[in-house]
This record gives sequence, structure tokens and C-alpha cells, in this order.
Amino acid sequence: MSAFVLLCGRMFDGVSDRLAGAVEILVEGDRIAEIGPSVRRPPDVQTVDLSDRTVSPGFIDCHVHLTMDAADLAGQTLQSSAAKALKGLSIAREYMRYGFTTLRDMGCADPDFPTVDLRNALAAGLVDGPRLVVAAHIISSSAGHGDLRGFYGPRWDIPVSAIADDAGAIKALVRREHTFGSDWIKTTNTGGYFSPGDDPARVTWFDDEMNILAATARQLGMPVAVHTGAADGCRQAIRAGARSLEHAYLIDSDALAMARDAGSYLVPTMQMTREDLRAMHDHTLPCQAVWKFDRDNQQILQSQRLIAGSDVKIAYGTDCGMFPFEHGILEFQAMVAAGLTPARALQAATSVAAELLGQDDLGVLAAGRHADIVAMPGDPFADISTTAQVDFVMKSGVVHRWPSQHW
Ligand SMILES: [Zn+2]
Repeated sequence: MSAFVLLCGRMFDGVSDRLAGAVEILVEGDRIAEIGPSVRRPPDVQTVDLSDRTVSPGFIDCHVHLTMDAADLAGQTLQSSAAKALKGLSIAREYMRYGFTTLRDMGCADPDFPTVDLRNALAAGLVDGPRLVVAAHIISSSAGHGDLRGFYGPRWDIPVSAIADDAGAIKALVRREHTFGSDWIKTTNTGGYFSPGDDPARVTWFDDEMNILAATARQLGMPVAVHTGAADGCRQAIRAGARSLEHAYLIDSDALAMARDAGSYLVPTMQMTREDLRAMHDHTLPCQAVWKFDRDNQQILQSQRLIAGSDVKIAYGTDCGMFPFEHGILEFQAMVAAGLTPARALQAATSVAAELLGQDDLGVLAAGRHADIVAMPGDPFADISTTAQVDFVMKSGVVHRWPSQHW
């Protein structure tokens, strides 16, 4: 069994509102064995000097699309499932170098289940990479955000969208996700910005449709994540018992209070809005997004400030895939710019994200937990941008990135 002692300058444990000073962490096998001022030294232990760094639990990004490339969604959708899984693997490994040791993939555009295969290969240790939690497809009404047929023109009815318009068909889609291995059910109950033929300010499920989807998932023991924009959509998702609201672009204070009371998590994907603002100014925003984003962008920023000022549970998620994965780490800075404290932003990416995923052995540095540990120079509580300088990454006790000056 491999063993490491990490000599840490400072420690964020995933939960606290302040950093701990110098500590030692003993890692044995894939778990944290001990944390304290001075830990055991088993035989053959390898010591890692992180004394000028802050360590944190590995980051968790709760909203990525490893197999969707917004820069060429239509073209890429036509690739085989295997091609998507392989490309997704290479993206996931590269993304782990930024400190992301667990990812929740929120949907692919493929008739098959490439992200489930990728998750299984990673979990079995066939390939190295981050831990993956998967909602394979995005269940949507026709004319909803998950209806991708608009990308292909009226005569291209390619079965990559999981769309349904009545209770029986909705139940069948949810059950199909369960049968073939999804961990989560992902649905959309409003339009989105990048999708043609829909509007984030409009709700696309009727209440009975949203409810039957959620009830079917509940019966199968599957949590539900809802892409949502309009405040009415947020309310509908919360009423149906959604575990997480994705984006919540146009949420208002009433819906935020409902989310808090219901215990729903928000995954507000704030960097995405910064990316879209830049694209709008550069005139590179896709034409179907321009009118919607032009109308809504100030209101989205206002909603982000409301979210930051509320006490709802906020989990870190980016929507990477819709923008380059190299920018996913910037969600920390976007969260702090919206008004979250650095501590809350870091909790969002560690303990709160782990809680959202129902993974109580992740997201916290404590004895017995998975040894998912990252380190960065400097103090992220004083300057959140140091999160973008992670240069040590350990997942389940295996080091995936060493600082450039190797000892
Ligand atoms: Zn998404």
C-alpha cells in the first residue's frame, strides 16, 4: 500500500470558514489516514513538501459536458459514441490537472450512453482520470432546451435528443436512463441561450409533466437536476422536488426562499455568463443566442447577486463544454465577483458539492475520507485567483500532478 505524508503550509478542510495553519496529512492507499500537527511515518512513506502551499479537498465540478463541444455542436454530435467517450476522457484528464478530481456530467447528445461507459471505465480503473457522476441525456419537451433538432434543420430528425410530450413517453425516457446506467436524471424546464427555437424566460414543461418526470425518478431512487432559467421555472422545479437547479439564470428572491426552504441546491454557472458577455461584445455569440442574451444579461447578473446574498446551498458547476474547459477554474473568481465569500466559493466546490452528489466520503479533508487533495501556492481566502494556480493534484491517493519544481 502506498503512503504519503503531505507537509502542508495551510489547510482548507472543505468546511471551515477559515484556514488551518501548518498540518501534516498521512495518506495510506486511497484514504486519508491521519491529519494533525505531526502524523505517523509508516515504513517506505513518501514525504511531499507543500509547506509553502494551501491544501484543499479536490475540487468537484457539478456541471460539465465532456462530450459536447459548443464550438461545433452539430458536427461533433454526428461522431460515434466511442469517439465522444475517448475525446471526453482526454478532456477529463486534462481538466483534472486544474484540481477537479470529481465531475458530474450533465448530458450528452448521442443516441447511446458514452458518458456512462466513460464513468464505468474510470471507476474500474481501466483508464486514469477524475471520478465521474453522470446524467446521460437531457430529457426535454419538444421545443425545449434539450430539443437539438433545430441544429440540423427541419429534415434532420437525428435521434440524439431525449424528447417527450406526454406522461407515458416521459416515464419511458426516465426509466431508460435508469436501465442504462445514469446516476442522475437531467431535464430542462425552460429554454436556454444556445439552443435554437426556445427561450430561457419561458417554462417548457407543464406542471404535471415536470411532476411525472420527478416522480418516476424518485421511484427509481434517482436525483433530478433541472436546467432552468425563468423564476417560474425555478419554482416549478423546486415544487417537483428537484435536487439541483442548474443555472437558475433569472431566479428571484421568492424562488430563492423556496429553494432554501426545500433544501434544493443551486448550481449557478456564473463563469458561463462572463463567457457569453465576452462573446457578445466580440460578436461571436451564436446568432440564436444573441437576442435572448442581449435581453437578459443584466437580469442574470442581478440574479447572481441575489443568489450570492441568499443562504441557499450553492454548489460549484461550470457548464464547461459550452465554453473551454481551461476556463472552468475561473468559476471561483466569478462566484466571488458576484458576492460570495472565498470560503463559500471553496465550500461550494468541495463539501457542498459532495453533499449534492450524496458522496459523504468526498469533499472534506478528514481521516477516513478519499485522499482527493490539491494544493495551490498562496492563500485562496485572501486572493481567490490562487485557485487557478493549483499545481499538486492527488486523487484517491495517486498523485496526478506534481509542482513543476519536483523534489
Ligand atoms: Zn449544461
